[in-house]
Amino acid sequence: MTRQETGRQLQFAQQPLMPASLYVDTTQAPPVTERLSGETRFDVAVIGAGITGLSAALHIAASGRRAAVLDSAEPGWGASGRNGGQVNPGLKTLPSEVERDFGREVGRRLAVAAWNAPDLVFALIERYRIQCSPARGGTIRAATGQAQLPGLERLTDECRARGGDAAWLNAAEMAALTGTSRYVAGMIDRRGGQINPLAYTRGLAAAAIREGAAVYSNSRVVGLSRSGEAWRVRTPTGAIVAGHVVLAANGYTDGLWPELAESVIPLFSAIVATEPLPRTLAQTILARREVLYELGDVTIYYRVDDAGRLLVGGRSASRPLCGPDAFPFLRELALRVWPNLDGVEWTHGWNGRLAMTRDHYPHWHEPAPDVIAALGYNGRGVAMATLLGREISRRIDGTPAHDMLLPTRPISPIPLHRFWPAGVAARVAFGQWKDSRTERGRA
Ligand SMILES: Cc1cc2nc3c(=O)[nH]c(=O)nc-3n(C[C@H](O)[C@H](O)[C@H](O)COP(=O)(O)OP(=O)(O)OC[C@H]3O[C@@H](n4cnc5c(N)ncnc54)[C@H](O)[C@@H]3O)c2cc1C
Repeated sequence: MTRQETGRQLQFAQQPLMPASLYVDTTQAPPVTERLSGETRFDVAVIGAGITGLSAALHIAASGRRAAVLDSAEPGWGASGRNGGQVNPGLKTLPSEVERDFGREVGRRLAVAAWNAPDLVFALIERYRIQCSPARGGTIRAATGQAQLPGLERLTDECRARGGDAAWLNAAEMAALTGTSRYVAGMIDRRGGQINPLAYTRGLAAAAIREGAAVYSNSRVVGLSRSGEAWRVRTPTGAIVAGHVVLAANGYTDGLWPELAESVIPLFSAIVATEPLPRTLAQTILARREVLYELGDVTIYYRVDDAGRLLVGGRSASRPLCGPDAFPFLRELALRVWPNLDGVEWTHGWNGRLAMTRDHYPHWHEPAPDVIAALGYNGRGVAMATLLGREISRRIDGTPAHDMLLPTRPISPIPLHRFWPAGVAARVAFGQWKDSRTERGRA
């Protein structure tokens, strides 16, 4: 056991453990981080050490300010260290809809930035030499039924019209790429790709520390109060006094800032992973390390990693679960899609919480002087959270609100928010019914 591992065990003995996952078993140990103790001054206190918080801290520190990141657990404990590893360009809506919803100038700026957000992820990986098995094979959006084709055609046209490297894939091309005849068509956007997300997030933490930021683990923020011109950020064992506060807890947002948690739906998503596939089988599924997600309401997403393991993600029960047998729906679906997976061992299964918004856009709030919250990536946080982390740094550097990618909006709690688990279950059931109709209309 290395000294770093010994230190980590000692430091993390009292805190929520990293939930078991393929990534925990295959990723280098995180940088050594400590619990906050005593009172310290920083320019910026960032709450949440996921991609949003760490990208913010990295950019803030690189621009010469003193930043501290605090996490209840450790860097990457949230969705950032458990996700599908898909570095996807774009938002949930079409570029033209973004332009309509935000106005021509702001909408165009946001659409261009969101669709090119993977550039920043891969640039940071290169600049800071983050060892996270990156591959830029492209993102495929896959249509399972005819009804999805007009929207996909529009998206392809709009991406190409805006300079994106996007191409239409017919049913035969989709079958050749995916090893299944499940799809009627698809679109590949070559700006996308894949990473090991826990390794990426830990790499961002290490890079932020190298740039001069402090990262505290096992340091849950339990109180925020204004103290003169500054903010006092309190944990059970210490406090930080800072000029700016960043709220970056996304699907794990708690009651720290009134009403923020009620402004998003904390949806669970799950992933199951196989042992490395036999070579002949691995060569039939996304062999160039493309990533794929299905269109539709209750969809699956998948990729094959650098060791040849298949990772399939999709819906999950709304509670923390782990183990390869915890998500039978995903395994059964995968076997229906690729019957020759029969006999391949499923080694891991885990889930986590992401944040959905009612308008499908990420939200940016400045609810008090020098407080910024960015959340609600709707399952596209790897690239977008990296980008908004940089935006947070720009704002703290003095960029005027009207030059930011996202306009500031008031925090708007979702009515009847406490019933979200029932609402999600009903939405999933309705989505499955809709998807089954879409699939019936495929022939
Ligand atoms: C299973 C799954 C698969 C996904 N797949 C993809 C994908 O393939 N591609 C993609 O783009 N997106 C995907 N997503 C979404 C993506 O992971 C998230 O959008 C993104 O990671 C959000 O990052 P974040 O830093 O904002 O939040 P998180 O990574 O969730 O981090 C929030 C952190 O805040 C901390 N925290 C909360 N409250 C406090 C407090 N009071 N004090 C201190 N710390 C606190 C938590 O401990 C946590 O570490 C997926 C999500 C899940 C769950």
